[in-house]
Amino acid sequence: MTASLFQPEFAYASAPQRVVFGPGAEGRVAAELAALNCTRALVLTTPQQENVGRKLLATLGNLSAGHFAGATMHTPVDVTETALLALHAMRADCLVAIGGGSTTGLSKALALRTGLPQIVIPTSFAGSEATPILGQTEAGKKTTLSDPRVRPTVILYDVALVRTLPPHLVVSSGMNAIAHAVEGLYARDRNPISSLMALEGIRALASALPNLASGTGQDRDWGEALYGAWLCGTVLGQVGMALHHKLCHALGGGFNLPHAETHAVILPHAVAYTETAVPDLLRPVAQIFGTATAHQGLSDFARQIGAPISLAALGLTAADLPRALDLATANPYWNPRPITRDALAPLLARALAGDAAQP
Ligand code: NAD
Repeated sequence: MTASLFQPEFAYASAPQRVVFGPGAEGRVAAELAALNCTRALVLTTPQQENVGRKLLATLGNLSAGHFAGATMHTPVDVTETALLALHAMRADCLVAIGGGSTTGLSKALALRTGLPQIVIPTSFAGSEATPILGQTEAGKKTTLSDPRVRPTVILYDVALVRTLPPHLVVSSGMNAIAHAVEGLYARDRNPISSLMALEGIRALASALPNLASGTGQDRDWGEALYGAWLCGTVLGQVGMALHHKLCHALGGGFNLPHAETHAVILPHAVAYTETAVPDLLRPVAQIFGTATAHQGLSDFARQIGAPISLAALGLTAADLPRALDLATANPYWNPRPITRDALAPLLARALAGDAAQP
């Protein structure tokens, strides 16, 4: 019999957020706006998904205030300020973001500055829609804050809108979501509910991603992956993250490496490093993948679905490693196994080369 997730001491706080799964998300926005007493929606997208935003605008009719199609990775503050001017000029009273984590990031940055409600329609598995966390970039530096005003009010999940996600992002964005859940399992402030959601989130993504990666995914698989992403994102929003997220933050912010792909490469290495300190907490992950250890399961899974496995392929070079180590060890996050420069150096060298993860 497997043990329950009971802990003798814990604190749990849930936050209000309306979450709807099902087809026809675009058609649901008008009713959600009415429920929020809003009449002028500003639609947000990236330039790459401008056509998706235009389609949504057309369905909103006179409930639409306009469209800003400039969302950018890592939420640059100058982009937010340009969008803020547009928002005021359009007299918008609600934000409607349709896209991946970058578009959700812009919506959150605008909500922080205006207090407007947000309806988010996610089209990737980043999970940002479920968190009160916002990372913003200014003068080449990324800073992160957590604020209840940033948490989206409504999330609408619809498989029809995620199906267009490019194949390389399907797998790396899925690994990004799994990373939130894995780190949630050994967070200092974890609780039985966050662990329950983390394991169910990993199970859902472990079940759905192989079919999506091989191109045989059906609606059920896309929906199951979105369900997993929501659960993993909820864990990210509830408990603290550790070494894995610190490394990805350092590499993404310091070297402009692509967000989801960096998570995919680092995860087995960060878990191998940490697992020796918390083998019991990670055993359920090994069980999900049917392997002796969690890091082996995550490594095998990443290779099976064709996720990127080397930082070199993402553009990092051996000459970057000393600065990467500086960034990763400056103001280190708490981690079950303490983070030291000497121990991290071989981890990053293996991740750079795409070598197997080792404890
Ligand atoms: P992204 O939003 O930058 O999307 C990458 C590209 O794919 C963009 O051009 C986008 O328009 C396009 N795209 C997204 N969905 C698509 C679809 N279904 N069809 C076609 N094209 C699509 O990438 P991401 O990985 O979703 O998000 C990364 C960003 O999210 C980073 O800035 C990261 O910091 C942030 N993030 C924040 C949190 C948080 O809680 N604050 C959590 C996770 C990620």
